[in-house]
Amino acid sequence: MYILVTNDDGISSEGLLALKQALAKVGTVVVIAPDHNWSAAGHSKTMHKPLRIHKVKLPDGDYGYSTDGAPSDCVAIGVLGFLPDQPGLVVSGINKGANLGDDITYSGTVAAAMEGSIFGLPAIAVSLVDYSPDPEANNFAYAADFAARLAAHVLDNGLGNEVLLNVNVPNLASEKINGVEITRLGKRVYRDELIERTDPYGRKYYWIGGERPTGIIARGTDIKAIAEGKVSVTPIHLDLTHHRLLKQLRAWDLRV
Ligand code: MN
Repeated sequence: MYILVTNDDGISSEGLLALKQALAKVGTVVVIAPDHNWSAAGHSKTMHKPLRIHKVKLPDGDYGYSTDGAPSDCVAIGVLGFLPDQPGLVVSGINKGANLGDDITYSGTVAAAMEGSIFGLPAIAVSLVDYSPDPEANNFAYAADFAARLAAHVLDNGLGNEVLLNVNVPNLASEKINGVEITRLGKRVYRDELIERTDPYGRKYYWIGGERPTGIIARGTDIKAIAEGKVSVTPIHLDLTHHRLLKQLRAWDLRV
């Protein structure tokens, strides 16, 4: 039994390394991560091309595996028998940037944890909110230690069927972090625009982008906890059914 560590930012991300090193205090860690950045790639399964796996040396001298598959493929590779042993826990991250509210539907980080859940494994996704391109300005160490503490609890207690924990950690100095809150998903406010430009050959192209999303500060949500400088832990399950609408829809006469 080992802890499978992956991410969506790619095998060379310092967030992945910090997570791997912290989790090594909790159990045996195996890294299987994508060979390039898959951020916002969502939950995918590579079906129409072969996957290559390379043994690679990580910056701390240990070995891991990189693949040309998606973050969720990395988890499937681990579970479906690439290694003689089975993972007992999947931990994905530490992502460079938040995965709050609706973000989790886009997130490759969370998708990797979802893949673990679908295989019946406990899983944790960890993200660093307000990641900075200046490497000196990122406190991956606190997020990694928190993830290791949480992983120890998950290994001791389990999580129940098809549940993952979505963790967001403020990118603050450790002494400025204002505690931990167990939260529900909040509502993101995206500020994307469709940018139209012209390429050097005179053809139009389009780019979707814009300012960082904001969110609605509502009680009990991940978005509010983060706004208050707290670590947010949200239990997520993959049953997307809207249970309250079932009865109403069944009353509709939908026969032709
Ligand atoms: Mn990412």
